[in-house]
Amino acid sequence: MDVCVLGSGSKGNCIAVSGGGTTVLVDLGLSTRQTVCRMREAGIDPSALGGILFTHDHSDHYEGIEVFSRKFDVPLYANEGTADGIDRQFPASRFAWTIFETSRSLTIGGLTIDTFSVPHDAADPVGFVFHEGDRHLFVATDLGCVTTVVRSHLEACQVAVLESNHDYEMLMASDRSYMLKQRIAGRSGHLSNDDAAELIRCSAPDTLRRLLLAHLSEECNTPQLAVSTMRRALDAAGREDVAVTALSQNTVSERISF
Ligand SMILES: [Zn+2]
Ligand SMILES: [Zn+2]
Repeated sequence: MDVCVLGSGSKGNCIAVSGGGTTVLVDLGLSTRQTVCRMREAGIDPSALGGILFTHDHSDHYEGIEVFSRKFDVPLYANEGTADGIDRQFPASRFAWTIFETSRSLTIGGLTIDTFSVPHDAADPVGFVFHEGDRHLFVATDLGCVTTVVRSHLEACQVAVLESNHDYEMLMASDRSYMLKQRIAGRSGHLSNDDAAELIRCSAPDTLRRLLLAHLSEECNTPQLAVSTMRRALDAAGREDVAVTALSQNTVSERISF
């Protein structure tokens, strides 16, 4: 299996996952021009995609859908809440959705994908675990807190894409409104560096080798801070073997094969 993050952050999210001869995208939050350009940079052919899976109905996760789906004939996968939420934003378009039920697994080509509920202020937000044989990839990019369900899906994964949105002190010191700070830090908002580190410190499976920190706030976090917070937690847990990288809004990540 391999994973390449085309962009991650509040201005647009898109992750390419390949396995079993199939490549899919998780979310389509960049413009179509950017998505295609970054896919080519990563060596992925946009016209050969097996599908696009949507995590939830926030625009930083579906921004490119209208133009992309007009240009490329790619199956679109979402649960009903997410599909309805996205449809409402594009009343002139009729997207041909393949609807999945949250908590059920689906198969796209050679990839099996588990879907699981995450706490976030959208219609029916989900995370995914991708399986190809004994290779497992965890993806959860927008979640306000860690639940037992989230924790259990980390099990046996070699690579995890996990939100590390903000540094709590930086968020509180920022000039954002009180309401917005409460939303971001709340249980249906976004995971802080400390929250992400705590999850990994307590629940990183022995199999974990790579951790990709996602959806970093540009104002209330820095890649150095996110990585060092996670590094400290891993080292304290005796997990020097796990490599940590912060993902970026503007550049394509390395392509990680495992
Ligand atoms: Zn988001
Ligand atoms: Zn969101």
